[in-house]
Amino acid sequence: MAEASIYEIHDPRFRQLIVTSAGLDELYSDCRWAEGPVWFNDANQLLWSDIPNQRILRWTPENGVSVYRQPSNFANGHTRDRQGRLVSCEHGMRRVVRTEIDGSVTVLADRFEDKRLNSPNDVVVKSDGTIWFTDPTYGILSDYEGYRADPEQPTRNVYRLDPETGALSAMVTDFIQPNGLAFSPDEKTLYVADSAASHDDKLPRHIRAFDVADGKRLANGRVFCLIDKGIPDGVRTDMNGNLWSSAGDGVHCFDPTGKLIGKVLVPQTVANLTFGGPRRNRLFITATRSLYSLYVTATGSQMP
Ligand code: MG
Repeated sequence: MAEASIYEIHDPRFRQLIVTSAGLDELYSDCRWAEGPVWFNDANQLLWSDIPNQRILRWTPENGVSVYRQPSNFANGHTRDRQGRLVSCEHGMRRVVRTEIDGSVTVLADRFEDKRLNSPNDVVVKSDGTIWFTDPTYGILSDYEGYRADPEQPTRNVYRLDPETGALSAMVTDFIQPNGLAFSPDEKTLYVADSAASHDDKLPRHIRAFDVADGKRLANGRVFCLIDKGIPDGVRTDMNGNLWSSAGDGVHCFDPTGKLIGKVLVPQTVANLTFGGPRRNRLFITATRSLYSLYVTATGSQMP
């Protein structure tokens, strides 16, 4: 019964997305700042970042936790491309990289208009293979999650990369600190968090939505929702188009109109989450020092 207290039901529809008897499983508790969870169904494994400890960790149901890569160049967000290859943001090298099937690492983007990127934070791949990522300054603010440096870019952008041509386009340039991002299941909407309140309480703590026109232009940017505890960092959508966001007190779930319908309360500040497991109905939550998992009835929209 104690587990029931981890849910806040703000709308009856949230009950359809959760298993009220399911509780949080703490799978690991020795990170400094856990981020960037990505599920590999073919390998039955989760990878995630422990940014200050310079490592990418791996969890499998059979063998628990091991080190996947160290040093990690202060890797943060991860995703997979259409071929299943790992795509990662690195604070330390200020770039987005792809890990090939043979384990070699290919640099996908490290400069825009001849200047170094700030510190790529989070990344998603669209069904057409294009790679969309955010570039706030968190990885160059101090030596804790990267290497302190002055930004070379005048703005903190949301980028679209065409890996076929290498063309890198700034899609949105007016964020203060763009962070997590996710497409709706039909890819007609892109959600991007602005976590600027992390360093100034008066700055935004909201998620913006954009219409995706012709699959590659963004229009009609608007504030989709506010986070009422902490800040939004990583976000994911489920198959019904609900948006699941990290927050200071756990994971917040918003319907496609931006209404808060429920929360999963987590004991530590949540930085990111993803849907995984063979049925994509298991939330993996990176929360400060720990990795948690939680079975839900919602199904993640993210491929593969
Ligand atoms: Mg992030």
